[in-house]
This record gives sequence, C-alpha cells and structure tokens, in this order.
Amino acid sequence: MISIDNYNFNGKRAIIRVDFNVPLNDRFEVTDDTRIRAAIPTIKKVLAGGGSVILMSHLGRPKKNNDEKFSLKHIVSAVEALLGCKVIFAGDCMGEKAAELAASLKPGEVLLLENLRFYAEEEGKPRGLADDATEEEKAEAKKAVKASQKEFVKKLASYADCYINDAFGTAHRAHASTALIADYFPHDKMFGYVMEGELKAIDGVMLSPKRPFVAIIGGSKVSTKITIIEKLMEKVDSLILGGGMTYTFMGAMGGKVGNSICEPDQFPTAMAILEKAKAKGIKVLLAEDALIADAFSQDANTSEAPSNDIPDGWEGVDIGEKAKKAFREHILSCKTILWNGPVGVFEIDKFATGSKAVAEAIAEATAQGAYSLIGGGDSVACINKFGLADKVSYVSTGGGALLEYMEGKELPGVASIKK
Ligand code: AMP
Repeated sequence: MISIDNYNFNGKRAIIRVDFNVPLNDRFEVTDDTRIRAAIPTIKKVLAGGGSVILMSHLGRPKKNNDEKFSLKHIVSAVEALLGCKVIFAGDCMGEKAAELAASLKPGEVLLLENLRFYAEEEGKPRGLADDATEEEKAEAKKAVKASQKEFVKKLASYADCYINDAFGTAHRAHASTALIADYFPHDKMFGYVMEGELKAIDGVMLSPKRPFVAIIGGSKVSTKITIIEKLMEKVDSLILGGGMTYTFMGAMGGKVGNSICEPDQFPTAMAILEKAKAKGIKVLLAEDALIADAFSQDANTSEAPSNDIPDGWEGVDIGEKAKKAFREHILSCKTILWNGPVGVFEIDKFATGSKAVAEAIAEATAQGAYSLIGGGDSVACINKFGLADKVSYVSTGGGALLEYMEGKELPGVASIKK
C-alpha cells in the first residue's frame, strides 16, 4: 500500500475526499471548523511536495442540485483562512468548467468542488421517487442511477493523477467519492493523515490495548448500542454502562424507573449482556444512583435517587454523586479507555455534571499515562463542551464509521484503498 509520506506529488494533481460536512449558522458561517482543521496537514503535504489539490466533499443532505443552503461556497473563506492560501471554487463538481479548472491547476494551487451530493450519483441512490412508487419502479430508478454513477465516478477521476481518501466520517459508505473512485487509481491511491490517524488509534485500542481496558458506553438506548457492546465484550476487562440505557438494565433487574427512558423489549438483551459479562469475568459498572428531574429542561426540579428506585413522575437524567465517584475511581485504575456516548443528558447544563465528571476522570487518567479514545458523535460534542479534547489521547472524527470499524465490519472507504 502506498503511503502519503512516500508518494511523489511533484507536478501531480491530487483529488482528496475530505469531510467538510461542517455545521453552518443562519448566516452560513462555519460554527465548528474541526473537520476543516483536521484535513489541513494532508492538503499541505501535497502542496509542499509540489502538487496541486482538488478537494471534494459533501455538505448536509441536499435532495436536489444547486440547493444554495448546502453549497460548499459558504466554507471557502474558512478553508482559505486555515490553509493560508487562495482556494478556487468550482460551482459544479461535474461539467466543463470543473474539468477546465482542474486541468489548469498549477502546483501549489487548490480547487474546491461543489457539494458532491448535489448529484444523486454520489450516493448511488435514486431521488424524487413518488411515495407510492412500485417495487419495480424503485428497482428501475436504482438501476438508472447506478448506471449514470459510473460516468460520474469516471469524470471525477479524470480531474487528477492520484486519489487520497481523508474522510473517515464517510468511510463506511460505498459512495462514488469515498470508495468507487479508488479503482481508477490502482497505483496512486492512499489514505490521508486523518484516515491514517483514525485507523491507527482504533486498531491500537481494539488489537493491542494496554490493560486494564474499560469501555464507557452511554447514550440513550440499549437497542442502538447492543452490537458495539457485544463486540467490545470480546476485548475489554470492564464496561461502564451509563446514560438512558441504565434504566433498561434497572428495569430488567426488577427495579423501578419512574418516567426514565426505558426499553422493556430490550430486557432480555440487557440480562444477556450481564450474564455474558459475568461468564467472561468482565466487570460491569452501572450507575448506583441517578440525578432525577421532573421535566426535561434546565428549570426542572431535581433530586437524587437510587437508579432502581425512581419515583413516578421523575426521570433519571444523569448519574448521581455515588456513581460519579465510583466511575472516576474505576477510570483512574485503567490503562486504556474508550468512551462512546454521554452518561446523561449533557445538552442541558444542569444534567451535564455526570458526563463532565467522566470526561475529567478520563483526562486525569490520560495525564497519568493511560491511552484514551473518544468517539461517536455525542461524546465528541461532550468532550468539546468541557474543553477537554486536548487532554485525551485521541478524539475520533467518525460517528457511524467508528462504530462500524470497531464492530469489525469492513469499511468500503478503507477496503478500496487497501485492495
Ligand atoms: P447516543 O447518540 O445514543 O450516544 O445518545 C446520545 C444522547 O443520549 C444524548 O443526546 C443524550 O442527551 C442522551 N441521553 C443520555 N443520558 C440520557 C438519559 N438519562 N435520558 C435520556 N437521554 C439521555
């Protein structure tokens, strides 16, 4: 496999799949530039090597071409500011103009293509189907978009001499720009630094963790985390299970959970997890007590209660003081820490102190030499909210991609580079 560090970019045009799917405010300003920032080292590497760069990305979920709201033109100035050079913008990722701009790129120049998802061919999924479309119509439409997808991929590939995939966040999708395009560059395809960093960090944790290894899994529901919990049970020494799923476990064990989020249909799954953990000698920590609230808002009345004895009309919204202490002590005793999912409703400040305590304990353990990996949408927002992102070992940019990779699934964006 080719490495970005060994490839000769001199005089070459590199097409880079970046993840510039950044949040914008009402004035179309970038409100969090983490993803753009992450891609800069890869772009700079190509430019420093004497190459030119064609950037391609999606932004949001446009349902049609040229939907202003989703135009990547809004982020040009943010990319320029972080990169420290001018960025040429192609107002369409297809068409003559984009091809001309790509062909006339000089070494050191950067071109950004318009949102790839303005074309249904990027995802290869048909659009505009009537709600009452028959199975036959759906199949026809799918066939048509798959056929035109080939042309789409070929056209994108024609802009460049080499391909770099640096979009870990979309690596679990077999889209035109994330996987299919790689076939056009059998000897000139590679990962960028974001991808390399992600794979190294996750492989390190999943394949050769320093022990003891704890996984802290929070979030709202057991049903969405079951696959990852099962996979992690093959690797970890202990599990901290927090967030809304606490109450499914409590309910399964016969506890009273009041109005807390609870999935009775998952009771057998919850019991099976506990039994399997016991059989494997994996310690499971559930929050002994909870912060309870009478409403889901900042001005709700709050109190504390045992997690298995929550009064009616109240719901568990965060871990309690005893659980904070127990989780902290346990985290500090571990050498590898994986955190996915907040242990409370961290979006509401009053219910965020449990997740903050967990984040602080992880930072403290990291300072003492543990390796910590934070990943999966909300845990990243959480660690950022507490300003602790630079106090942990690695913050993954991938949500679904991270979970699928940890579950052991082959990611199309990874496989297409490796094959
Ligand atoms: P997930 O995407 O599954 O990781 O879930 C993250 C969401 O879980 C966040 O929006 C949290 O607000 C939510 N969450 C965490 N703890 C609870 C809880 N006790 N009750 C309801 N929602 C929760």
